[in-house]
Amino acid sequence: MLDALTDAGAVDVFFDIDFAFASDQGGDAAFVQALERAGGTTLLASFMQRDRFGPAAELTHNLPYAPFRELSWPAAVNIYAERDGLIRMYPSGEQIGTEFISSAAVLLAGGRIPTDASLEINYGFDPNLVPTLSAVDVANREFPNHMVAGRSVVVGAGAVELGDHYAVPLHQVVPGAIIHILAAETLLAQAGIAHGAIKYLAAALIALLLILNAFGRERPWRLVSANLLAACFIEGAALLVFQSWFLSFPTAFAHPTLMAFTLVKLARSLNIISLLLRRKDVQIHNDQALLSHLFAQSSDGIVILDEAGDPIIQSRSAEAMFGTDARGALLLPADLQATARRSKFGENAFDQEPLVRSLMLGGLSNGKHIEYLSTTSRFQEVDTNSDGPKHRLITAISARDVTELKRQEREIAYLSTHDERTGALRRGPFLEFLRARLQTDQPTSVFVLNLSRFKTINQLHGRDIGDALLEAVVTRLQSMDANLSAISRLDGDSFSFFVEQTPEPVDPHELAEVVRAHLSEPYVFSSIHAQIGLRVGFAKIDKGDNLGPEEALSRAEDALDAAKTMQGPAICTYDPKNAEQRERVRSIERIMPDAISRNELSVLYQPQNRLSDGKLIGLEALVRWRNEELGAIYPDEFIPIAEANGFINSIGRHVLEEAVGAALALPDSVTMAVNVSSRQFDGNDLLGDVQQALAITNLKPERLCLELTETALLQQDAPTIETMHDIASLGVTWALDDFGTGFSSMSYLSRLPLSKLKLDRSFTMSLDSDHTARTIVRSVNHLCNGLGIGFLCEGIETESHREILLSEGCNEGQGYYFGRPQTIEEIITHWNVGGAESKARSWA
Ligand code: C2E
Ligand code: MG
Ligand code: MG
Repeated sequence: MLDALTDAGAVDVFFDIDFAFASDQGGDAAFVQALERAGGTTLLASFMQRDRFGPAAELTHNLPYAPFRELSWPAAVNIYAERDGLIRMYPSGEQIGTEFISSAAVLLAGGRIPTDASLEINYGFDPNLVPTLSAVDVANREFPNHMVAGRSVVVGAGAVELGDHYAVPLHQVVPGAIIHILAAETLLAQAGIAHGAIKYLAAALIALLLILNAFGRERPWRLVSANLLAACFIEGAALLVFQSWFLSFPTAFAHPTLMAFTLVKLARSLNIISLLLRRKDVQIHNDQALLSHLFAQSSDGIVILDEAGDPIIQSRSAEAMFGTDARGALLLPADLQATARRSKFGENAFDQEPLVRSLMLGGLSNGKHIEYLSTTSRFQEVDTNSDGPKHRLITAISARDVTELKRQEREIAYLSTHDERTGALRRGPFLEFLRARLQTDQPTSVFVLNLSRFKTINQLHGRDIGDALLEAVVTRLQSMDANLSAISRLDGDSFSFFVEQTPEPVDPHELAEVVRAHLSEPYVFSSIHAQIGLRVGFAKIDKGDNLGPEEALSRAEDALDAAKTMQGPAICTYDPKNAEQRERVRSIERIMPDAISRNELSVLYQPQNRLSDGKLIGLEALVRWRNEELGAIYPDEFIPIAEANGFINSIGRHVLEEAVGAALALPDSVTMAVNVSSRQFDGNDLLGDVQQALAITNLKPERLCLELTETALLQQDAPTIETMHDIASLGVTWALDDFGTGFSSMSYLSRLPLSKLKLDRSFTMSLDSDHTARTIVRSVNHLCNGLGIGFLCEGIETESHREILLSEGCNEGQGYYFGRPQTIEEIITHWNVGGAESKARSWA
């Protein structure tokens, strides 16, 4: 191979192959001869190697075998990987034994470069561009001579299996021979750096800058792009030179020079400093304009004071607020001047949070209420001497006239505690005063009053008179010399107060009498004379009762409730028994909303019979309520409560649906009576409910009879009567329930679409003992005959009742004698009237 390469004109040949030991004699001799023929241009690998068989750390020096060494150059071939396993640096040589042996690449590059440090291999060279020949082709001389002529040849192991491969940046893994070649190329390229050319480059750069300078004050973007172009041009030219002649120019210095030049040019062309100054000027001008605008327009009075408390400048609003003297000088209150003067002595006054203070200008009652805020700032004097900067203190005062605001605040505070109409206390503040009174632990009495005819007066004379009356009631209470404390209006026409602490104990009943007498005196409003009734409830609170104000007031309200149940004007004291009753009502009210959803309501039916032969002619549906907590609750108790809180509507609808459904189980000859409350007419669609119940069940309307009590009818108005007529026009009949208890006028009866009168059971009950009862039965019978309507007597309990009533002309009756209220199944079994049962089932 060496002969073939030498003959082809190779400049030198480097064997990256271990020739450290003798091999077969013939081969070694032939190599020695070839080395001789090559004439000393051959490089042989020398290297340090860790002895595989010796102690672990021992390194052996592997110089070429002596006979070869004499005819060749030893070339160091050790290369060392960095921490990450990559080969980046190439050593300039290796100390092997006593000798320093230059690296293969250094020798291949002609030994011209005195490198004594490591060299960074330039992996920019492409290893694929290195021309390669296979050893066999070379040995057989099968290669074109021009590939070798005039070049250095490196002979090395290319097969991966031979293990002479290294990891490198960029090209992953390359054979050791290639690394030597790349290192040699790197050295040759460095040798090609035209150090001498720097002066030419510098000259060219200066010329370029002069050309750029010739552009004069260019637009910044042009300047920048010219600079960029120049930078590109320099780099491009250097690259071209490098590729063509392997000459590299150190271009790095050119770029900062260009950049600095451009920046200076840019600064000049933009005229930055004057621009900055101008901008500052405009900013200051704008700030000043804004401040003086604020100053002039501010509704708050603004005054700037010096350390002596004299105004430096003030806003027009400040002049208007404080006034000026004949010479136009501001008449600043002494307090404000003092504030400014104090700031001089105040420790770090300017660092403190500004304080809002207030002062009165003029008299306390009709003067101005001014609130002001003062801030002190330290100003630096413009002309400072050598002692350092001089400062002075400036106090800015911003003052506001809050007279109106304060007046409104007082008014709002008053209104939040006092009733606007009468000036009496509201409930909340009343309770607060009462709490304080109870805390003294001295006995007192709490009173609640209710005006009993107030609504009528309102309706009769109008709201203005009503309002005037309420006011007059409070004025009378306030003017009473009776130790009344915290007179309050609880709601519409209820008032309360308690008894102030007095040396002598006050008899609350006597006091109530006095108050009632005083308030019952007629009230005169121009031509109108009004008189009111009064109900009074009071509760005595004794030492050690330990009651809160709410409980104490609630006791007085309980007592008032008791007074309300009495006829005429009444005074009641608190009685725990009434309280129990009220508690039960509250419990019933509380559980009522869930009664229907919890299925606690049921309907029982009481028979209505023909008196002559006892034939069943109808049933009356009567609601029942059984609750887990309260047990059986009877309609006489819960219906009035349901009427008061509006639940009567859902209860009424529920009973109507149940009853109409139940009626289907009975023959057509049996009617179904359902009780209706007067409250079901108020804004509730009673007509719609009836229509719906009939539509769902298909019950004949004439089988349904609605019962309305006489007392309920007494309070009815035109719309109710209209609804009654509408329902009657469906075919449904109306019965007047409990007749004889409500004093109905006869004219009323003729205007109503009634089909039946039900005489109250109290008359039947007294038939045996009271002769007048018989007379009444007879007269009512006449009346019904005259009106052409039916007549039924309630409360028949005995055979005697039946006989008397029959003899007095009554044909129909209802009562325990015929049957108690019972379930529809019991009715069907007892009266043997199950004919229509299947119909009912299909409806259900
Ligand atoms: P009412 O409509 O006059 O019903 C008759 C009441 O008298 C029923 O009492 C019934 O049990 C009772 N009674 C019947 N025969 C006799 C008797 O021979 N002797 C005595 N001592 N009493 C008899 P109840 O069921 O307690 O109902 C009381 C009132 O409650 C009813 O009086 C009615 O006005 C009202 N009410 C009952 N259910 C409803 C309903 O579903 N809706 C409405 N709005 N009111 C109802
Ligand atoms: Mg009834
Ligand atoms: Mg009745």
